[in-house]
Amino acid sequence: MHNRIYNFSAGPAVLPEGVLEEAQRDLLSLKGLGMSVMEISHRCKAADEIFATTDANLRRLLRLGDNYKILWLGGGASQQFSMVPMNLLRGEGRSADYILTGSWGEKAIKEAKKEGTARAIWTGKAENFVRVPKPEELSFDPKAVYVHYTSNETIQGVQFEAEPDAGGIPLVCDASSDILSRPIDASKYGLIYAGAQKNMGPAGLTVVIIREDLLPLCGENLPSMLSYRVHAENNSVYNTPPVFAIYILMLVTRWLIENIGGLEPMAAINKRKSQLLYDAIDSSGGFYRGHSDPSCRSAMNVTWRLPSEDLEKEFVAEAKKHSMDGLKGHRSVGGIRASIYNAMPEKGVETLRDFMKDFASKKG
Ligand SMILES: *Cc1c(COP(=O)(O)O)cnc(C)c1O
Repeated sequence: MHNRIYNFSAGPAVLPEGVLEEAQRDLLSLKGLGMSVMEISHRCKAADEIFATTDANLRRLLRLGDNYKILWLGGGASQQFSMVPMNLLRGEGRSADYILTGSWGEKAIKEAKKEGTARAIWTGKAENFVRVPKPEELSFDPKAVYVHYTSNETIQGVQFEAEPDAGGIPLVCDASSDILSRPIDASKYGLIYAGAQKNMGPAGLTVVIIREDLLPLCGENLPSMLSYRVHAENNSVYNTPPVFAIYILMLVTRWLIENIGGLEPMAAINKRKSQLLYDAIDSSGGFYRGHSDPSCRSAMNVTWRLPSEDLEKEFVAEAKKHSMDGLKGHRSVGGIRASIYNAMPEKGVETLRDFMKDFASKKG
């Protein structure tokens, strides 16, 4: 038997157990190849098939049109904070609009400002990042090259329910912590990027989905490794992509399609899971206080406070004794954060919910 505990860490995060088992089974030798997937060339037929299958699965799950390219990159989502503006914002008269709903969006605009004109058209900072803007609070520059937003702010636990309506300006979305958690309207996006280690696979892979008509914006003088155009023209094998991480993403996307049935049922499961925790918060008589505004509560990262920091420490330590780890909130927000990505079983969330009730009745 495995001694697996419930891992509520924000990332790297829990992966489906069946995926880990399959990877383990095939670790020494992939389907009669006599080599591990970690040992094969990124230009061999087996690697081609892994890339093609993963590409097809992602297209199917996200309903991507043929006019999107999927790139396998490294450098984490953080490198995209720079790559997006290096590629799309350098150039005469270009500017971009940023919507800031938490810590990651702030990091993104900081890098964008090094590359060109990036305007924060809305920030939730003064309210301590508890919500996303209402449509009437947003006024876009119609000439903006793109509008950047963070679909789910992992640290604060603040999530957009749907894409902001930017009136046809291409959306650029940091979807690191909620990609594949629910269906999206792909046609609204110019570019989607996500580090794999929250909802897709191991660290080391960053998925970038870019609409082809944006590629001509990418300057000729960029370092090749930082150019979307170069990676797109070379089908992500300009250099060695993270083959093993892409292979795990192939297994994760297959799990989503075959075991879950796609993103609609996944979204329903995620809604149900998060509701268990929000109900526990709301019914605690004020013992637990949710961080985010109820209208913007994340289905992926549930964040809340207890009456004191001592109680928060005790909560985390007690939970650990009950086989639940990773619950300490990010240092910038404090409190508790339960990250309940796709692969967190409902049983794990129920276990946490029961523990919350028990803890509140003892300490409240
Ligand atoms: C984790 C995270 C990042 C940073 O990802 P790295 O891969 O560590 O660079 C960026 N944005 C969001 C929304 C995240 O959750």
